[in-house]
Amino acid sequence: MHMTSAEIREAFLAFFATKGHHRVPSASLIPGNDPTLLFTNAGMVPFKDVFLGDEHRDYTRATSSQRCLRAGGKHNDLENVGYTARHHTFFEMLGNFSFGDYFKREAIQYAWQFLTEELKLPKEKLWVTVFTEDDEAYDIWAKEIGVPTDRISRIGAKDNFWAMGDTGPCGPCSEIFYDHGEDVWGGPPGTPEEDGDRYIEIWNLVFMQYNRQVDGTLLPLPKPSVDTGMGLERIAAVLQHVHSNYEIDLFQALIGDAAKIIGTDDLNNKSLRVIADHIRSCSFLIADGVQPSNEGRGYVLRRIIRRAVRHGSMLGAKGTFFYKLVASLVAQMGEAYPELREKQKVIEQALQREEEQFGKTLERGLNILNEALESLEGTVLPGELVFKLYDTYGFPMDLTADMAREKGLTIDEDGFNEAMEAQRQRAQQASNFGVDYNQRLKSTQKSEFSGYTETVDESEIVEMFID
Ligand code: ATP
Ligand code: MG
Ligand code: MG
Ligand code: MG
Repeated sequence: MHMTSAEIREAFLAFFATKGHHRVPSASLIPGNDPTLLFTNAGMVPFKDVFLGDEHRDYTRATSSQRCLRAGGKHNDLENVGYTARHHTFFEMLGNFSFGDYFKREAIQYAWQFLTEELKLPKEKLWVTVFTEDDEAYDIWAKEIGVPTDRISRIGAKDNFWAMGDTGPCGPCSEIFYDHGEDVWGGPPGTPEEDGDRYIEIWNLVFMQYNRQVDGTLLPLPKPSVDTGMGLERIAAVLQHVHSNYEIDLFQALIGDAAKIIGTDDLNNKSLRVIADHIRSCSFLIADGVQPSNEGRGYVLRRIIRRAVRHGSMLGAKGTFFYKLVASLVAQMGEAYPELREKQKVIEQALQREEEQFGKTLERGLNILNEALESLEGTVLPGELVFKLYDTYGFPMDLTADMAREKGLTIDEDGFNEAMEAQRQRAQQASNFGVDYNQRLKSTQKSEFSGYTETVDESEIVEMFID
């Protein structure tokens, strides 16, 4: 069966609606109910208070297609983009949720029915994992669903035990994998037990069954709940008979348009995949109210934009290009997400401004880096250099790390932090001598651009690395 992303999204929500689930629209990428969380990184986030029993809704079953961001905080897939076939910074998570209603048996039955009857996936391509000690889930898969036991693995807590935090609701997971076959590109093939790109995890079923106490003991929850998440792009790859998420309809359109805008015909270039990924996260962040800045969420956004701009430069982009991709994204996703269409202008303006600003220092920074590489001994970029690129040329540390990685090098993070601290102390001393730093900032901001430092408020620097 071949289905577009939009058809799959609708099929999923409709299937769970027939099972009594309330259809809930996607919430913002900025969590409304949790100041400790940088971004909405899973479908359950908007329901957190319902799971905790702090919020009551007039339904006990829900289904959603939630926009998610994993580019900072506990879940960070930024480093995976461009390297694996299955990770994005921004993606959509299809989910079904039970708030003290059904539990393991129905959750597993629904998932299996959806995959093998609605989507008609061949059963022999599906593998499952359960938590080592979860005999109940194991038996449901093996005896009731009839999955052959050589395709069921028991996995430890790192991957198969989920917790909302150090205390509170938690429980075992069961993950469903699709075997893309031996012939896969990039990355290690892996096994269902270890990360890789042959057996790709498509769906995670979380069984919330305990309440972890401060002393670590697990008390059974009076009403166990279910939280599941399936990546729309991953299941689309399966249904479109391609291996990588970047080969699905939506990404091919974005990659094709990016190539045209930049003026390259090297369609398999990794940089195009990175750019296609980043235009989604950046546009949705701005649509949800974030602007590039030097702290917190705004700094995550700035870092992603600058990475995209650097990849464009590698492909030979002349002048600004990134903001021109917004129109293409709106064409692809504007129907499912009308807010994207409404905010198109705002998004374009913010991206263009940031691109122009970084464009001024990018080339010079790259020259400095290349010179340093010529005389580099060993495989570690010195912290001083990483700091100079950051401080004078606006290269976020992770961007320099990304460039280093492409050359088989790493960066000296400790050295970078020391240089940062030394800079902070110098600024502090300067202010002790009665220099009105704010006054200086005001006057330099009006003058011609003369380096990155002067437009950054030192007091914010420490906060830039909150993730
Ligand atoms: P992986 O092990 O492949 O990194 P995960 O175990 O971290 O995935 P979960 O936290 O279980 O992922 O999220 C539920 C589902 O969301 C996954 O089964 C997958 O389909 C999808 N998903 C997770 N991370 C990403 C991502 N970065 N990009 C696209 N889809 C993702
Ligand atoms: Mg992951
Ligand atoms: Mg996993
Ligand atoms: Mg998982």
